[in-house]
Amino acid sequence: FKRIPLAGRSKDELQVMGESFNKMIGRLERNYDQQQQFLSDASHELKTPITVIESYSSLLKRWGMKDAAIQEEAVEAIHHEALRMKQLTEHLLQAASQSDPTVDTEEEIELISFCDQIAQTFRRTGHREIKLQSEVKEIQAMTIPGKLEQVLVILLDNAIKYSDSGIEIMIKREMDDIFISVKDQGPGISPEHLPHVFERFYRVDSSRARKTGGNGLGLSIARSLVESFHGKLGIESEVGEGTVVTIILSHRILI
Ligand code: ADP
Repeated sequence: FKRIPLAGRSKDELQVMGESFNKMIGRLERNYDQQQQFLSDASHELKTPITVIESYSSLLKRWGMKDAAIQEEAVEAIHHEALRMKQLTEHLLQAASQSDPTVDTEEEIELISFCDQIAQTFRRTGHREIKLQSEVKEIQAMTIPGKLEQVLVILLDNAIKYSDSGIEIMIKREMDDIFISVKDQGPGISPEHLPHVFERFYRVDSSRARKTGGNGLGLSIARSLVESFHGKLGIESEVGEGTVVTIILSHRILI
């Protein structure tokens, strides 16, 4: 903080300074409350899988050696919850590293081949149905590649989680804007839930999310990552039709 001399200031000046000081304190308090809320939500999210793992492993210890059906059920549940915890901790680490300035350097990349490589990685792990569609052959643009990749991985993971076919990455250029969309033909999101999906820990259907392994962090992380490289993230969805999540980059095109 810079020391600001108060002596010799008029009453009006002191009042204006007092008001802006109060506003700053208000902002700090809100930030602190948000951090506290995040910490408590994250701990709560971790507690549930730990409880499931604990009770199933106790069950295994007591009865599992004699009963093959219990063994199968317990191992399946423990494995599922461990995967959920793995994704949650990955998301928490991503959320924490968003303010890390060392990964914030913008670079020039060719967007179509960049997106194609990410789609290839998914295809190699068994998701052959992911298509790439672009109206142009090449777009040289400035972005933070590591962060753009993280966003695309979150969006593709969601598309796969909620739908199992008809997944496409679509790239479009309009004047100075680039639109990179991830489209699926999954169940869609109803209009009352749609405005909330970017909120931390928001899940449309927590019982379905338990099965799919969701924690409600993906889209909120994706949005702040996109904002960190000056883009915007939008979503359109229709129940029974599918969902399209779009990254919009403005004035980042080089040629
Ligand atoms: P999660 O880890 O639960 O998927 P997200 O923040 O990524 O968390 O998404 C928030 C909620 O939005 C999800 O719980 C899900 O209900 C809904 N959602 C996100 N992406 C899709 C999609 N592609 N299709 C249907 N619902 C989706």
